[in-house]
Amino acid sequence: MEKWPVGVFASIDAGLGVKLEVARELGVPTIHLHTPHKLSRTEENAKRFSARLQEFGLRITVVFAGFEGESYADIPTVARTVGLVPPETREARKQELKEIADFAKLLGVDAVGLHVGFIPHDPGAETFREVLAAVREVCDHCRGNGQRIHLETGQESADALLLFLRQVDRDNLFVNFDPANMILYGSGDPLPALRKVGSYVRSVHCKDAKWAARPGEEWGTEVPFGTGDVNAEQFLRTLAEIGYDGPLTIEREIPQEPQRQKDEIGHAVRVIEELKSKILG
Ligand code: MG
Repeated sequence: MEKWPVGVFASIDAGLGVKLEVARELGVPTIHLHTPHKLSRTEENAKRFSARLQEFGLRITVVFAGFEGESYADIPTVARTVGLVPPETREARKQELKEIADFAKLLGVDAVGLHVGFIPHDPGAETFREVLAAVREVCDHCRGNGQRIHLETGQESADALLLFLRQVDRDNLFVNFDPANMILYGSGDPLPALRKVGSYVRSVHCKDAKWAARPGEEWGTEVPFGTGDVNAEQFLRTLAEIGYDGPLTIEREIPQEPQRQKDEIGHAVRVIEELKSKILG
């Protein structure tokens, strides 16, 4: 496989990514797919969808889970609603995550991505132990499917994430590294964090952001890739340094402005292609 194939975050009927047609127009070879709605996750649809992907020349490298009731409105809302952390929905979401993994398997995809939520920093806390058990159970289910789980970065510092990964202690648990999330959530400088968790990184989001005035209390601002505080060139150089050669998947979350979204992703594709030839020679 080509080193660093470019990709985009895409969706069919749920989630914020661009439509498949846009991915095809952009001419990229890979996508991360936000999981379709529960009712769409049938064997029949998987077949139909796989045929369409083949026709479009697109390969899914990660299926991302998402759950009803999740909201990224502000940092406290994320803590209350996202992933496997909220106790009221944990059991149902754990089951649904297994169903999403099974649907990904029907699509021939060997990685499932997930925002697990705000993991408490105290390993002695009850929530920490419960989330740990839930993630282990899902990892074991995915292992049976020959799949990996990729935890999205952002809510935790690199050290807290490393601690959690080691405690889960499953060899099919990895990281989807999103440098912009570290800035948006104020959880640390992305590039030193990338070096720390480097051996776990199996997929990435090429997303950019500017730091908030009060990081961690308020959101940073998402901006087009290459124009924010991530430092696109150093991000790619650091990926080379840690030996990452998987897809570079562009994420730009402005679904309310589809034309601007498409233009900015198109620009990001060119930025990445230029940096690739500069870095890889
Ligand atoms: Mg992301």
